[in-house]
Amino acid sequence: TPTSETLGFQTEVKQLLHLMIHSLYSNKEIFLRELVSNASDASDKLRFEAIDRPELFEGSSDLAIRISIDEAARTLTISDNGIGMTREEAIANLGTIARSGTKEFFSQLTGDKQKDAQLIGQFGVGFYSSFIVADRVSVLSRRAGTAPSEAILWESAGEGEFTIAAAEKATRGTDVVLHLRAEEDEYLTSRRIREILRRYSDHISLPILMKKEEWDAEQSKQVTTDEDETVNQASALWARSKSEVTEEQYKEFYKHVAHDFDEPLAWTHNRVEGRSEYTQLLYVPKRAPFDMWDRNAKHGVKLYVKRVFIMEDAEQLLPGYLRFVRGVIDSADLPLNVSRELLQESRDVKAIREGSTKRVLSMLEDLAENKPEDYAVFWEAFGQVLKEGTGEDAANLERVSKLLRFASTHTGNETQSVSIADYVSRMKEGQDKIYYVTADGYTAASHSPHLEIFRQKGIEVLLLTDRVDEWMLSFLRDFDGRTLVSIAKGGLDLGALADEEEKKQQEEVSENFKPLVERLKTALGERVKDVRVTFRLVDSPACVVVDDNELSPHLLRMLKAAGQ
Ligand code: ADP
Ligand code: MG
Repeated sequence: TPTSETLGFQTEVKQLLHLMIHSLYSNKEIFLRELVSNASDASDKLRFEAIDRPELFEGSSDLAIRISIDEAARTLTISDNGIGMTREEAIANLGTIARSGTKEFFSQLTGDKQKDAQLIGQFGVGFYSSFIVADRVSVLSRRAGTAPSEAILWESAGEGEFTIAAAEKATRGTDVVLHLRAEEDEYLTSRRIREILRRYSDHISLPILMKKEEWDAEQSKQVTTDEDETVNQASALWARSKSEVTEEQYKEFYKHVAHDFDEPLAWTHNRVEGRSEYTQLLYVPKRAPFDMWDRNAKHGVKLYVKRVFIMEDAEQLLPGYLRFVRGVIDSADLPLNVSRELLQESRDVKAIREGSTKRVLSMLEDLAENKPEDYAVFWEAFGQVLKEGTGEDAANLERVSKLLRFASTHTGNETQSVSIADYVSRMKEGQDKIYYVTADGYTAASHSPHLEIFRQKGIEVLLLTDRVDEWMLSFLRDFDGRTLVSIAKGGLDLGALADEEEKKQQEEVSENFKPLVERLKTALGERVKDVRVTFRLVDSPACVVVDDNELSPHLLRMLKAAGQ
């Protein structure tokens, strides 16, 4: 490799940079939060790698983040003594975006600043946000365990390309040097920097160091001294007691762990003692990440063991249908050298998984009951995922089914807002079943001819139109002792809902129509199993139904589409 080379950013990085500078302008101070967050992640990674290779500490295991200001050079520097980056890592991490689906994501950009800013939030801003305030960024980095002469210097003006050169660095870790834009002088003031750190980075568990300031009477101004001072609380936020953590701190911690730009919708923070000991701080995001339906997308919570970071995206700690949950689980029981394979078999993990599932369900129940508007936001983003719980988590089926929301003939709109309990509370005298219809979409469902008799009798019907619904229905067979019944199935019996007088009349009519039924049977021949007189239709002359034990036409269409 040449000692210095100039490389182009990946197209998506260029788009991101452009967008960032133009759409996050009103909130530019967040660049510091992002850089401190990265410094903290880098230190976590070092601590983890050093479990097996303590020599990586190079004799100094005191990890810290340092922020320094050079007024004369007009630079702000964020330094860490974490894992650092090799040349290859710097090129990959600071030149491309590795997440799958990134291209599709950027193709959604509209050019509307506000909309795009929201999108960007969903994407996460990260390192590139430095260019909001800097017109040049230099990153001097050395990977832990490599020689001082193997360091690298990455530099860019954020306009399409960057250079990477060989460099010297005595200590391991990374210095990010921001050459501030002409109008960004405020970030050269220690007071302003401290204020931003207090607001956004107080949850960081490492000490954030700055030079102490003192009043100098002779110059009659604040001057920096040589003494270090820790400007944050520097303790793991999840290990603090709830009463010591403010709402703002919970929110900022969420942005850090979830790499999200938006605030969380809800969270739950608990220390669990007994058979298994762990602390959990789990969050529900407001919005689904753009790659939620990507099978390869990473998900899961961060695993720590006694404050030591072990892994990102530990999906074994929660069932798949809660994959939208973000946060931290810190176990006191697991060994530090736990691997993903080990997690799959561990009894401690099983206990954590069960306990955390219950906590998340309680959090959702609480939201549904006390903050229905927030619950609606949750349902809109993650309802389809939660429905998977009916099949995945037999032990909690009842709790999951209470959390489900559907469109219904009662509300008359597409919004999924009706719980099965709501439905049950509106059941008619003599009604003992829960009726639903499935279809490809709301319009098809709400115009189903099967609904006619129900409309006429004023009986509510749930309208199920999500892809997962048919699958869900094979597990969700009843609720509170009442069977769920499709109104599109053959011998639909309205039971006590049909009155005696009506029944007699119907028998007569059936008798009269026998010749017609016979003619239809002959005409249709092999193509149908049976032809029957029905009283379920009000406006339509005829409809096609399936037998009770057969696949519904909607499911058949879905299976066909899936190539089965
Ligand atoms: P994210 O933190 O969400 O991964 P960023 O854009 O903030 O995204 O950072 C991109 C990547 O660059 C990080 O995942 C990490 O691999 C690398 N990186 C950034 N800052 C540092 C640092 N201070 N030390 C080591 N690696 C870093
Ligand atoms: Mg980051």
